[in-house]
Amino acid sequence: MTRQMHMVNSFDPTASESLAPEDRALLERRQRVLGAPYRLFYREPVHLVRSEGVLLYDRNGLDYLDAYNNVPVVGHSNPRVQERVAQQLSVLNTHTRYLTDDVVDYAERLLALFPPHLEQVVFACTGSEAVDLALRIAGHTTGRTGIIATAHAYHGTTQAAAAVSPSLGTNNPIPDNVVLVEAPDTLRHDPATTAREFAARITRGIDELRRRGHQPAAAIVDSILSSDGLQTDPPGMLGPAAEVVRDAGALWIADEVQSGFGRTGGWWGFERHALRPDLVVLGKPMGNGIPISAVVGRADLMEAFGRDVRYFNTFGGNPVSIAAASAVLDEITGLDLLHNATTTGAEAALGMSGAAAGDPGIADVRHAGLFIAVELVRDPETLAPDAARAAAIVDAMRQRRVLISASGRYDNVLKVRPPLTLSSNELPRLLEAFDESVRVTRTSP
Ligand code: PMP
Repeated sequence: MTRQMHMVNSFDPTASESLAPEDRALLERRQRVLGAPYRLFYREPVHLVRSEGVLLYDRNGLDYLDAYNNVPVVGHSNPRVQERVAQQLSVLNTHTRYLTDDVVDYAERLLALFPPHLEQVVFACTGSEAVDLALRIAGHTTGRTGIIATAHAYHGTTQAAAAVSPSLGTNNPIPDNVVLVEAPDTLRHDPATTAREFAARITRGIDELRRRGHQPAAAIVDSILSSDGLQTDPPGMLGPAAEVVRDAGALWIADEVQSGFGRTGGWWGFERHALRPDLVVLGKPMGNGIPISAVVGRADLMEAFGRDVRYFNTFGGNPVSIAAASAVLDEITGLDLLHNATTTGAEAALGMSGAAAGDPGIADVRHAGLFIAVELVRDPETLAPDAARAAAIVDAMRQRRVLISASGRYDNVLKVRPPLTLSSNELPRLLEAFDESVRVTRTSP
């Protein structure tokens, strides 16, 4: 049997009798026109009509605390983003083949947030497109074909991005030029040797690529390993692996779609690992919901690619998306959201650890900034994963109107990833819902 891409707690359309008539009618229309590719979270879907800050509102006016969405990094319906986008829409919206100020201003501002060896940026619209572009740049500039990715990674929807996304399941074939390596897992392996072991796996991956007749062009790694179960610690654990990749003449592509723009308490997730990426992929939070993504990279790579290959992205970096992206930088800086991610993240993780204390089914609460993982197991000795309880907790939280999700290699890791504007004021609501959900899903005394 092939493994389908799993979505934790997804809605089962056959259970629609329990829904309110309005929701059922909308669901039926949705099934008709959007069909199978579109899945819904939760056994009882949430029918949203508006949002503000860290809250989402359903059609009955009930509010939900959003502890899941990282795209609205500076808060839902952010007034500054609204204002800048509306203003820009009323003035000019073209593409990057004319001389305009704002795209240059923004590029300079963005690049100033990176180490000096990353000197240029190319804009696109989605994370997948940026991943695809980074892989093309790596292939073109190294003249090689081999790629290394982690064993349960997700990098996106295009053919090339899906080829490095094993979490899509066995119906999504991984081609011969892609070798998968196990991600670090410090719950199951000694944190002290994690960095060395991961580097050794990369070495073996490179050997395997060569056996298959592919020289290594790049390793692509999500700097927070979110689909591999959110592996946050120890900081520095990816550094030796990046060295191995460089020594093999290949590039390190840091996928910052999840970890970028302050999520981990610093601007970029790779900073925690003291590594030197050659290319960095940005997406999701970059425009707070307005589609904009980017590849930031070494100037020599960009020059070589740009010289030899004609690249033009119609919407990539257009003035409206740049307006949104500039407002996001303003807000992250002005509201001191890096600091908030660090302090509120630590407070949230501490509170969740407290709620988890003494529960043998909760093996770990780990976090980097405002990205928190809670790992559920059936047995604290064997650490056998407990995906069913993870799903039950996600659903119990939803009943309490707090939105989170679960993911990871075994679907047993709760993923708590709120907008970075979440403050201590909202924490009691998150922690109370978590505490209750942990308790109501505990089977043994
Ligand atoms: N990389 C990572 C690490 C992601 O999490 C995602 C999206 N979940 C992507 C790439 C693809 O981004 P998009 O959906 O914007 O194409």
